[in-house]
Amino acid sequence: MAKRALVTGGAGFIGSHVADLFLAEGFAVTIIDNLASGRRENLPAGAEFHELDIASADAAALVRDGGFDVVLHLAAQIDVRKSVTDPMFDARTNVVGSLNLLEAARAAGQGSGRSPRVVFASTGGALYGDFVTPPAVETYAKDPESPYGIAKLSVEYYMAYYARQHGLECVALRFANVYGPRQDPHGEAGVVAIFCNRILDGRPMTTFGTGEQTRDYVFVKDVARANFLAGTAELPPVGMLDARAFNVGTGIETSVNALAAALIEGAGRDTPIERAPARPGELQRSALVIDKAAEQLGWRPQVGLVDGLRETFAFFAERHARACGGSPTGGVGASA
Ligand code: NAD
Repeated sequence: MAKRALVTGGAGFIGSHVADLFLAEGFAVTIIDNLASGRRENLPAGAEFHELDIASADAAALVRDGGFDVVLHLAAQIDVRKSVTDPMFDARTNVVGSLNLLEAARAAGQGSGRSPRVVFASTGGALYGDFVTPPAVETYAKDPESPYGIAKLSVEYYMAYYARQHGLECVALRFANVYGPRQDPHGEAGVVAIFCNRILDGRPMTTFGTGEQTRDYVFVKDVARANFLAGTAELPPVGMLDARAFNVGTGIETSVNALAAALIEGAGRDTPIERAPARPGELQRSALVIDKAAEQLGWRPQVGLVDGLRETFAFFAERHARACGGSPTGGVGASA
């Protein structure tokens, strides 16, 4: 019988790629999503879909009784700025919703049942803060600067507790800035979607301050593979914060200026760049050391930045053309 995977947030950007990969690997896939930011069109054919809030009793019952081997928990309120303006809303989804699923996964193991492994979409970009000099390793001090980062760290602490106290298998993947087809402008690598749309609208790309702020951009299909390996690899039982956490990035710091240049190359479109004043409080540098994922999960990113941006731009060009009722605007892959 096929193994069973539950993907929360499977109508979203990263979750839909995770669901695609688990289906391709022969798993029976069930998706929970309340479509807050996800789209029906992202749902893969062949997955069973439940339109549910992760904080609901119905979602808990599904996790408890569904006989899943693995839960890939990606559903979240993902907007860092929204978490600042409405931390209660953020915590209801990102803390209480996650706890609801962990409690249900624990309950699944009672009696003759067994608990699924829980793989959680945490963040590398919003966890370590400006407190440490990048690239960050998993054991570095955490200094989340937003309620979003605090919520992700809280869930990691809960997972360490569930592992220790209840033997629940938990893995936290700390994603860097994930970009790729289906991405949302509000996510942690939103700049890629914004730049793609600017190019397609024939408008300049805006960089703030010097444009030398750095991020670690990782392609979504590489991130999906990290989820697959985290969900299926043999891992020793551990129950401490950081022990079952893996950074998922590239280890490469890319400045906004370099990102714009790589996108121009990938898209095959020369586009002007306009400068705007620096934004106060913006994180200046971010990158993750990924050796642990390589050693313990056998995972390394495989898609380079220009290739990933080319595929991402092609996706936005097709969506743009559909919206305009024409064919994709030229230049995609011109530099391939
Ligand atoms: P996304 O918004 O595309 O996906 C999140 C999904 O969760 C959406 O489909 C949304 O409808 C769903 N959702 C939101 N609240 C829900 C709720 N209460 N109940 C059920 N479903 C709900 O975002 P994404 O970029 O694909 O992010 C996926 C995960 O990865 C999130 O946990 C996010 O915090 C994490 N993450 C993303 C990045 C990034 O760069 N995109 C970086 C670090 C971590």
